[in-house]
Amino acid sequence: MSSDFLIVGSGISGLFLAEKLSELGTVTLVTKGAMREANTNFAQGGIAAVRDFENDTLESHVQDTMEAGSFHNDKEAVEFLVKKADFVLQQMNDMGIVFDENPTREGGHSFSRIWHKDDFSGEYIEESLILRIQKNANINIWDRAYVFELIVEDGECKGVLVQDHNDEIHPLESQNTILAMGGAGYLFEKTTNPKVTVGEGISLAILHGIELGDLEFIQFHPTVLDIEREPMFLLSEALRGEGAKLVNADGKEFMLKYHEQGDLAPRDIVTRAIREEQKKGQVYLDIRHRSVDFLRRRFPNIAYELRKYDLKLERDLIPVTPAAHYTCGGIKTDLQGRTNLKNLFALGEVACTGIHGANRLASNSLLEGVVFAESIYWEIKNEKLKMKNDEKAASYELRDGSDEKPLEKSKNMNKKIVQNVDYLPVKTKHYEGFLKEIRRIMWEYFGIIRNLKQMEKGLKELHELEAKDISSHNIQLAALAIASACIERKESLGCHWVNLK
Ligand SMILES: Cc1cc2nc3c(=O)[nH]c(=O)nc-3n(C[C@H](O)[C@H](O)[C@H](O)COP(=O)(O)OP(=O)(O)OC[C@H]3O[C@@H](n4cnc5c(N)ncnc54)[C@H](O)[C@@H]3O)c2cc1C
Repeated sequence: MSSDFLIVGSGISGLFLAEKLSELGTVTLVTKGAMREANTNFAQGGIAAVRDFENDTLESHVQDTMEAGSFHNDKEAVEFLVKKADFVLQQMNDMGIVFDENPTREGGHSFSRIWHKDDFSGEYIEESLILRIQKNANINIWDRAYVFELIVEDGECKGVLVQDHNDEIHPLESQNTILAMGGAGYLFEKTTNPKVTVGEGISLAILHGIELGDLEFIQFHPTVLDIEREPMFLLSEALRGEGAKLVNADGKEFMLKYHEQGDLAPRDIVTRAIREEQKKGQVYLDIRHRSVDFLRRRFPNIAYELRKYDLKLERDLIPVTPAAHYTCGGIKTDLQGRTNLKNLFALGEVACTGIHGANRLASNSLLEGVVFAESIYWEIKNEKLKMKNDEKAASYELRDGSDEKPLEKSKNMNKKIVQNVDYLPVKTKHYEGFLKEIRRIMWEYFGIIRNLKQMEKGLKELHELEAKDISSHNIQLAALAIASACIERKESLGCHWVNLK
């Protein structure tokens, strides 16, 4: 089967880009689980964008992003992200995705610039995009379809191999393949991420020598509900943005001891502070001083979840602990989302654009998904225009509608590329046990505070695991790549905290 555009992943990045590219041709959207199984669906806080230009500035958003990333960020990429934010929020608005009137503030941000829909921003965005896509005749959806290989011929990406829910294998072909496969959070035992995020974008890249970057920077979210549950339930930074304080087992606030921004310090600092305070016992979030009305209105989703455990924001101290949350690195791309393999793009959490540096600033990732989806759309659109008219096409920056000429759809590729698949990647009991073991190793040896000797031990244990199917092999590759990157960076930086003893 072939289409003009092939997108892997149904989070914000894949869905938004599918909607955009459907203007230019046929789109096949492949996703591993059900459409909604994506990190996006779990995002609570919102999307960062400077829109109040009287009080806030683009420079401030750039500075906050760089500070959170320990200045390991690519400044050009950060400026690109921040400048496009207002424009892409308008685009979302045009698609019917409308946020609450007042933005909020989150850790590491100097101003209130987080646009949200109550505390279920991700679910709202995901749902709105899915509804549009399901009605779009130009988009063909393959859900419960597992992508386990790229089709590469003559140094070009020509599509992917996919295993459908009947265990049949299909080559899906396209002149433009876009990986929007999310991160690798579920490779860690404690995580806020759903089961689909096991770093398979990273493995596809390794199999074909595609450049990766910054894999050691796994962000641990400081405040996750400390109750066994999968995925673990996030207590959004927005709670601290609205005045919640972290308190230790003695009921004492402690964050000012660790950072001048107190409870709104960057995530890695809060995470390590909690780890330290946990030595004395349980750490809690305390927002009991806010009114019931406010809390239920502002955090309906959190209040609802907490009730399942007989906890109330207005009444109780809420037990918290850190957990793996976000993969800052991934497949290296330029500002147009291009990887170093021809005709292959990467987008969203799977990509490493250089925006996040050594740690992601809160609410920059949903933004990244949309900004780079727009960028890829304009890149492809311009290329088509150039091919057709041999003239300079309009750019993302100078969009004025003058380029909105009807486009010819590109010819489908008819050539069969892969015929001989001699193995079937099945999700077996072996895979489940294998994944469990990987998660244990990653959490134990490559968790919040890393130690060189322990990491070397972890790497050895990862190597010794014997993968018996393709799915297991792929997650082993991803885990090994993250582990090796952790060992390679000898000094602590951002969310990579290493103790060399
Ligand atoms: C609890 C939580 C709260 C968050 N809150 C915020 C927030 O407030 N603001 C913010 O900016 N960010 C937040 N984030 C981060 C943000 O949600 C993600 O970074 C973002 O949604 C990633 O979007 P994505 O489209 O790149 O990937 P995802 O949404 O993770 O989607 C990845 C897709 O790829 C598919 N896939 C993966 N592997 C395969 C495969 N082998 N074959 C086929 N399909 C595959 C998956 O099934 C999925 O559909 C939060 C994350 C979590 C977990």
